[in-house]
Amino acid sequence: MKVFGSSGVRGVANEELTPAFVHRIALAAGTVWSADAAAVARDTRTTGRMLADSAASGLAATGLDVHRLGVIPTPGAQAYAEREGVPVVMVTASHNPPEYNGVKLVGADGVELSRDALERVEERLLAEQFDTATWDETGETVVVESARRRYIEELLAAVDRETIADADLTVALDPGHGAGSLTSPTFFRKLGCRVVTVNAQPDGHFPGRDPEPVPGNLEDLGRLVRATEADVGIAHDGDADRAIFFDEHGEYMEGDATLAALAAADLGSGDTTVSAVNVSQRLVDVAEANEAALDLTPIGSTNIITRIRELHRADEHVPVAGEGNGGVLFPDYRLARDGAYTAARFLELLADATASEVVDPYDGYENVRVNLEYESEDEREAMLAAAEQYASEADAQPTTIDGYRLDYGDAWVLVRPSGTEPVVRVYAEARGPDRASALAEEVRAALADARADA
Ligand code: MG
Repeated sequence: MKVFGSSGVRGVANEELTPAFVHRIALAAGTVWSADAAAVARDTRTTGRMLADSAASGLAATGLDVHRLGVIPTPGAQAYAEREGVPVVMVTASHNPPEYNGVKLVGADGVELSRDALERVEERLLAEQFDTATWDETGETVVVESARRRYIEELLAAVDRETIADADLTVALDPGHGAGSLTSPTFFRKLGCRVVTVNAQPDGHFPGRDPEPVPGNLEDLGRLVRATEADVGIAHDGDADRAIFFDEHGEYMEGDATLAALAAADLGSGDTTVSAVNVSQRLVDVAEANEAALDLTPIGSTNIITRIRELHRADEHVPVAGEGNGGVLFPDYRLARDGAYTAARFLELLADATASEVVDPYDGYENVRVNLEYESEDEREAMLAAAEQYASEADAQPTTIDGYRLDYGDAWVLVRPSGTEPVVRVYAEARGPDRASALAEEVRAALADARADA
């Protein structure tokens, strides 16, 4: 595919991602979708309304009625899609900086479109073959005021309200000026938590922090946790499909550790969990301890969702899946990442333990990442050939769907070329100290030798 990447279409708004382009995407989607109506939703970006108007115009031109949901988290738009049986054009750039925007397409089942369905849209888009309606068949616009309220109600019905309310928690919340600003504070209050917030006014300029929930952007949240003696800190990205956590001391908790804790609570014998090839040893260990299988996909949530769909067709139970960036899926609830739902599931774990106690079993892992730059395609190829050679000789379980991953039981190493920079990355992780750095150094040396000979 050329247009839709692993997270939809993204670009600097009004330069790469223009209103005219979004209009054509909507024309193509409206042509492919066999529905009477479609919804349009957006996050809080300054260009969101402009691009949502383009999307609405394109859908109406193909004869679909358009439900305008306004600002809502991506998972809220997905809940609407499933409830009403309409597909959605979601205007969001998720965690990207403020000048970006993007488009994500959601099917009438509430799940992001499969690769096959996206390819059909892309074919129409590239060929500019759109089935437009005659003047008297163009779509009408319906403004939907209730989508956020209904989303919150659905979340409340899906989690263990009593356990969370009984835990009597103070939650420090940083929705990062994104779409979660309009839903998560209400949701956690209705769960019986005391809620304190930072960056909780929707603002497409993102004055308090950038939309990506990484430690460098979340120092205010750590301070808020300490100042209010909160039990936990929660941060979302711009469209609130991810949740990142701070412990009761105001310390950032690794997304891999909270994923492992959530998985440990849900995984049973015979279950399968799905993650990407850079999955943490923590999840490897949790799967093994719970006699569950761990399936690895190429990096990116679209690949994980595709794999879960395949496993569902084979009648496998996948209670939990996701990546260490705060993007967690609970497919029994919905085949979608949902930051508010994920956070509530974490709050359930705080009934019997503090946040730091919950992730304590997943501390002490050593993570290493090394970058090897290359200046020519020959150097790149030589390094990847060396990685393949190393993998073939290693006493480890190989996975080669996206780079070369070697699982040793207590540790793993992954060699993978970057998709955006001229570097080959070496990742390693181990349960104990020093093992990961030794593994990474051995692989780095092998690759560096091959590069020198290229
Ligand atoms: Mg997101």
